[in-house]
Amino acid sequence: MATMYYEHDADPTVLEGRKVAVLGYGSQGHAHALNLSDSGVDVVVGLRDGSASADKASAAGLKVLSVADAASWADVVTVLLPDTEQKAVYDDAIAPTLEPGQAILFAHGFNIRYGRITPPPSIDVVMVAPKGPGHLVRRTYTEGGGVPSLVAVHQDASGTAHDLALAYAHAIGATRAGVLDTTFTEETETDLFGEQVVLCGGVTELVRAGFDTLVDAGYQPESAYFECLHELKLIVDLMYEQGIDGMRYSVSDTAEYGDVTRGPRIINEAVRAEMRAVLEEIQDGRFAEEWIAEDRSGRDRFNLLRAKGSDHPIEAVGTRLRAMMPFVSEGRTKVQDASGG
Ligand code: NAD
Ligand code: MG
Repeated sequence: MATMYYEHDADPTVLEGRKVAVLGYGSQGHAHALNLSDSGVDVVVGLRDGSASADKASAAGLKVLSVADAASWADVVTVLLPDTEQKAVYDDAIAPTLEPGQAILFAHGFNIRYGRITPPPSIDVVMVAPKGPGHLVRRTYTEGGGVPSLVAVHQDASGTAHDLALAYAHAIGATRAGVLDTTFTEETETDLFGEQVVLCGGVTELVRAGFDTLVDAGYQPESAYFECLHELKLIVDLMYEQGIDGMRYSVSDTAEYGDVTRGPRIINEAVRAEMRAVLEEIQDGRFAEEWIAEDRSGRDRFNLLRAKGSDHPIEAVGTRLRAMMPFVSEGRTKVQDASGG
């Protein structure tokens, strides 16, 4: 069994007297900064000059400095900038001021795993990666809960890097939910695989393919929307609460028989082979290389694919139907709004 850590496993005093700079105030940044501050940690937010987030952070009672000033002031530098931006900011504003004894903390292993950032050996390099979006890291904390998180140590210069990661996980509320030891490699590769194959890529393409199949066969788009997208949440909630077995217990026998006989025809051996191919691209660095090149060259292909997704008929039908069910989107009209980013 893997090692899990809970509230009593962390020593919060490890962070006493240690100053933390949270760089970035987006989805993760605002949540970490506010949770750390509420947990009594001495925290500042590091932002670009003229950043639109500066007013938000100040209004929330947080001190804001430039990225370079925050990084040199802090004992622990938490890098919560977009993964594509981290290397440039590290090279310009963090690396020049790093001193032995400082720690650098990530919420995703991308830049360390793919060798884009290589901190000097005198620095602790750790990860605390919440397994959920930032607005939930904040909301669950204020409600007395937390989001499960992964911790990892890439470099342990002080001999206490793991204690630091656990204390930090404690301060953002993660040990209330459970913290799992991992490595930068495992976190990076499983995180990318999960979002590409199941959580984002797999599920959106499955929903659209199901919708298209019904609409092409002459069924009403509204029926297809309710069936393939709206109901998905009800099924996922059951799986989240009680596992696949629990979900199957709640649906009808007819649904369950269709599930166990037809499911494997949809996610068949060819699909599983493609999953392994996608995993290989993550493991050998091809995905990272492609994404960095796409970002550097102005994201033309990314923007095109994004626009194509927005043009899909399921979006127009969904917008119309959700407008008649305002309770569905209540308080979270847009994920970006909720993230504070
Ligand atoms: P985000 O895009 O929501 O926020 C990034 C922040 O950095 C914003 O405040 C932005 O203004 C600022 N920023 C952007 N470029 C900058 C620059 N050049 N200099 C200074 N500031 C700059 O990012 P996020 O989703 O919170 O991701 C941060 C880290 O957390 C990433 O490593 C990501 O992989 C990780 N992570 C994110 C999630 C999530 O659900 N969003 C979950 C787990 C881990
Ligand atoms: Mg993830």
